[in-house]
Amino acid sequence: MEPLYLTIALDTPLDKVFDYRWLPASAQNESEQPQIGQIALVPFGRGGREAMAGLIVAISRETSVPLDKIKDVIEVRAQCQALSPAWIELCRFAAEYYQRPLGEVAIPALPKNLRVPKATSLNSNLKKLAKQKLAAPASDASPQQPASLNPEQTAAVEAITKVSPSQSFTPFLLHGVTGSGKTEVYLQAAAQVLAQDAQAQVLILVPEINLTPQLEGNIRQRFPGLQLATLHSGMAEGERLLHWLAAHTGHARIILGTRLAILASLPSLKMIIIDEEHDPSYKQQEGLRYSARDLAVWRARQLSIPVVLGSATPSLETWQHAKAGRYQQLNLTERAVKAAVLPVVKLINTEREKTSEGLTQRLVAAIRLRLDKGEQSLLFLNRRGYAPVIHCDACGWISNCTRCTAHLVMHKLDKRLRCHHCGLEQIIPRRCPTCGNVDLQPLGRGTQRLEEGLQLLFPEARVFRIDADSTRKKGSAEAAFDTVHRGEVDILIGTQMVAKGHDFKNLTLVAALNPDSALFSQDFRASERLFAQLMQVAGRAGRAAQKEGGNSSEVLIQTRYPDHPLYHALMAHDYNSFANDLLEERQHAAMPPFIYQALLRAEAKQLETAILFLKEAAHCLHHPGITINDPIPMSMTRVHNIDRAQLLIESTSRPALQAFLKEWITQLRGIKTSVKWGVEIDPVDV
Ligand SMILES: [Zn+2]
Ligand SMILES: [Zn+2]
Repeated sequence: MEPLYLTIALDTPLDKVFDYRWLPASAQNESEQPQIGQIALVPFGRGGREAMAGLIVAISRETSVPLDKIKDVIEVRAQCQALSPAWIELCRFAAEYYQRPLGEVAIPALPKNLRVPKATSLNSNLKKLAKQKLAAPASDASPQQPASLNPEQTAAVEAITKVSPSQSFTPFLLHGVTGSGKTEVYLQAAAQVLAQDAQAQVLILVPEINLTPQLEGNIRQRFPGLQLATLHSGMAEGERLLHWLAAHTGHARIILGTRLAILASLPSLKMIIIDEEHDPSYKQQEGLRYSARDLAVWRARQLSIPVVLGSATPSLETWQHAKAGRYQQLNLTERAVKAAVLPVVKLINTEREKTSEGLTQRLVAAIRLRLDKGEQSLLFLNRRGYAPVIHCDACGWISNCTRCTAHLVMHKLDKRLRCHHCGLEQIIPRRCPTCGNVDLQPLGRGTQRLEEGLQLLFPEARVFRIDADSTRKKGSAEAAFDTVHRGEVDILIGTQMVAKGHDFKNLTLVAALNPDSALFSQDFRASERLFAQLMQVAGRAGRAAQKEGGNSSEVLIQTRYPDHPLYHALMAHDYNSFANDLLEERQHAAMPPFIYQALLRAEAKQLETAILFLKEAAHCLHHPGITINDPIPMSMTRVHNIDRAQLLIESTSRPALQAFLKEWITQLRGIKTSVKWGVEIDPVDV
């Protein structure tokens, strides 16, 4: 048999594919020939010393590589069934859209164990592994019956599942107030899709699985006979391989995952659900900076399947699509539990009312009322640690990180100052490093200090804190939420971790402490995010019917700016006018979603080096319809001794921007520089 030439996409920054020769072993039959979509190990690097895994994207009897230069394929992982043309097309789209080589998208999307060079035993094991049943956590919970739906929920399920093949593709925006039963809509729509087709797969994306263990439990109870694969970054590699294979072979019918799951191989995908579609964690913030939500919509369009974007506070991008009729909007305007009403939102002016331990008297009284009735309170403070900074009154010294444009945060429990950006740690100094003053003071308040204060104010109460520090160990976040759900907590303190998706049955008071800083941020998306966050956290209150003699649910916001329109929209539970006003502002100011952006980021030891590079980049190509702004340092300029700057590119035309970027990036590659740079499409923190 003649040799074949395989074109392989490799995970390298070089924007090309590589040809390798494949020689049939003696007496091999046709069926053992390589196929497009299979994974192959090939030599790479200087002298071909390195073995690398790549994806076969083309097979030919000819090659343009001179025969004395071509290298041989080491191994084809033939035991792993080939990735489908649709999946390769998805990667190709993402590669083109985000201006990356195909291999940089496709290869990292595969489980690491499939890509490791020296695992020859793996190849023969793959078939066995693919058939392995995924372990489900032991559960004594009985199968769950679907809840009965209210008319709005029924209409939503019908709309999503009644899409006929002749209908043109339209994504759904499921806009439902907090506690309106969006999950029930997802599950019943999914149930129909899974029942219609014995192979059908449903992909459910969530911002973070560990923060919403309830959802996984609900899915398992609702679909006890079906295999559920989970895909998220916290999994061990062996586990990830098993789950990925279950999805890839079609054995797993429901796939629950975080953003990375959007690039999973799903041969029978029939529906995609994106819960909390506005959540910033759908955007990957390093490497290939993709938006899982945007890729989900593309993937659904490619396959002509329904995609549901659910949120109480949709992103303005999605909201604008719905307003323009590109997305079909489905509304859930009432809470699903009868007699559960949206909490009353009240503002407390901290300029006027005195505080002790950071709490106003009104808030203290409100917590007391809950304690008296055995109800729970949630205090939301999006700042972990004890105090954001310590300082010296005598000379003005403050605890700055020596490696970042940031303060060192005081962590009293472990007696450390810690940088939340680079990880630098120091023991809390006993005296001021500059003047020797022994009276160093913490400034401001983090969750640890709030916890300490609450224990002083309410010595009889069970105070419990959930933040990144208290849940560092694997599984501890789930355990912490369980503690709250079991009712073993009176006052819960938390960062944004507690805002997501939890159904706290006995919670009737939510308080947000001084969330004002985002109101005046230079990031134009800060207010959109703050609104979403506050609405989410407020939505934890009053999800069950009010108990007889119990308190009605309320949300108290301690603020210095009680007249701010954002808070007034929140009091009115009025996402719609808030979003419409913001959109109008954005349109006037020519900002996304009305224009398209890309960001060139540059990192160097010296800020000037980065800026110089960006200046050169700004001048190397011009294009009608493209605005190139001036290079500026990033708002957090230095992280871990690296200075960072950025150059913003804008256009009112997506195709013009994409065409410009393609040519521009080729030119940037030609610039000789020590600067580390990268281009991000649709940046979210400009
Ligand atoms: Zn001092
Ligand atoms: Zn630092």
